[in-house]
Amino acid sequence: MNQPLHDFYRLLRAAAAARKNAHAPYSKFRVGAALLAGNGKIYTGTNIENASYGLTLCAERVAVGKAVSDGQRNFIAIAIAAPSATPFPCGACCQVLAEFGDCIVVCADARRPRQLCVQRLAELLPRAFRLAC
Ligand code: ZN
Repeated sequence: MNQPLHDFYRLLRAAAAARKNAHAPYSKFRVGAALLAGNGKIYTGTNIENASYGLTLCAERVAVGKAVSDGQRNFIAIAIAAPSATPFPCGACCQVLAEFGDCIVVCADARRPRQLCVQRLAELLPRAFRLAC
């Protein structure tokens, strides 16, 4: 991974800052995501829960939606910040990210923010669904 480490820490700080805006009245599990796009811009997202639980949006997909709606399709890395355990993206978010290629996924436990876990998306979801047309 050729991305400088300080970029990962910068992304993680943006993800942690985004957590403050999470709408998580049910789980109280506030998650933030920060997506570095090819244009150098960081798009953040938070989880947005809903009383109808199934409609809840993950922070990662909110960040992807913001980036795509801004015309971005090339994603370099995404960082995820959560209050406790190292927050790997869920399967649905991995699939949504895989739509746009193989980015770097950066996670850290909020209690140990200097201990990064850096992986490629393809390691987390090696057999992403592809529509064969
Ligand atoms: Zn998710």
